[in-house]
Amino acid sequence: MNNKVAVRICEEYDLQIVQNHIAEIYKITDGPDVLGKKVLVKPNILSDNDPAKCVSTHPVVVEAMVRFLQSEGATVVVGDSPAVHLPRFRADKSGILKVCETTGAKWVDFIINPVEKKISNRSVRIAAAAYEVDLIISLPKFKNHELLYFTGAIKNTLGLVPGFSKAKQHAVHKNRNSFGEFLVDLNEVITPAYFLMDGIMGMEGQGPGTKGIPVAIGLLFGSTNPLALDIIASRIAGYDPVVIPTTKSALLRKLWLRSEDEIEYDGPDTDTIIKSGFHKIPVSGNNNSGLQFIVRRIKFLRKTERRPVFIQENCSGCLKCVQICPVQAIKPMPTKKTHIILTDGKCIRCFCCAEACTDNAIEIRVKMFGV
Ligand code: SF4
Ligand code: SF4
Repeated sequence: MNNKVAVRICEEYDLQIVQNHIAEIYKITDGPDVLGKKVLVKPNILSDNDPAKCVSTHPVVVEAMVRFLQSEGATVVVGDSPAVHLPRFRADKSGILKVCETTGAKWVDFIINPVEKKISNRSVRIAAAAYEVDLIISLPKFKNHELLYFTGAIKNTLGLVPGFSKAKQHAVHKNRNSFGEFLVDLNEVITPAYFLMDGIMGMEGQGPGTKGIPVAIGLLFGSTNPLALDIIASRIAGYDPVVIPTTKSALLRKLWLRSEDEIEYDGPDTDTIIKSGFHKIPVSGNNNSGLQFIVRRIKFLRKTERRPVFIQENCSGCLKCVQICPVQAIKPMPTKKTHIILTDGKCIRCFCCAEACTDNAIEIRVKMFGV
């Protein structure tokens, strides 16, 4: 790992253009030699959705990376596990399965025979595929994230924890700082060798699920260093990186950088590419903070937090939100599946429900009255 981050302007999902940028970024940032190696390419597939919704890494970026690695002599497999990972899940609608078919890269299912690893002193399931390859290449997406404010390289590794095992971690690490610590611990146990972020189209507003708003960013980012990449990308989105729980935790540990000043940046002047109009997640003082114990007991303070609000008229009654909630804070009304009821006192504001909902039926906002 080194401290180099390269950023290139790239405004369209044109396979050849993207592949050329990847080759250049990879070289500048000293990406690992893959000749004769088996490589797992791990996109961010939050849910299997149309690429235009920007919830997942765009298939052209996945294909460009796969083809680049193959041209460098690697055998490539591709996989990820969304939060709601049902048996025989395939990334079909996102176009990523098609990429596997056209490139010959094998799709691997993370849910099959995961291995148990000790992370943050607890046993956590990790996809077996992560241990069956020589190295992992991670393809995060430039997106907001309601819990972590901004999702990036460090967060994308969570996809190696298959399916509902991800949500279970929220029940253990109940506030954003604790969850950020867990993600950094996870990356210490299993560190992808390279990170290429798809920022051609990003997502602002209520990310990372389908309620977020696609927005043109026009950038590709690459680094072997997840912290350095996340610092640059979150700054371009307009965040102070030290408010991002993952970045803050890694910086405090001096894990992959001793300070931001150590980053060796290669790209356009950052002042010219910062997205000043990017709609960020409001940085909250009390929501999921260390004061949570007190906040939970003062009802009025709870009402000032951003929380899930269920929009009945959009709800299809799929119950994915109910399945994923790690603390059983929601349930359908006995008489009507499309009316979801929240027990606010139980809710830990992990926002897994909003990530899982593909029907735009969960908004995250302050709601002072009602449940
Ligand atoms: S709120 Fe969304 S996830 Fe929950 S049941 Fe309705 S449509 Fe499904
Ligand atoms: S209701 Fe939603 S935000 Fe609250 S704990 Fe459950 S999944 Fe998390």
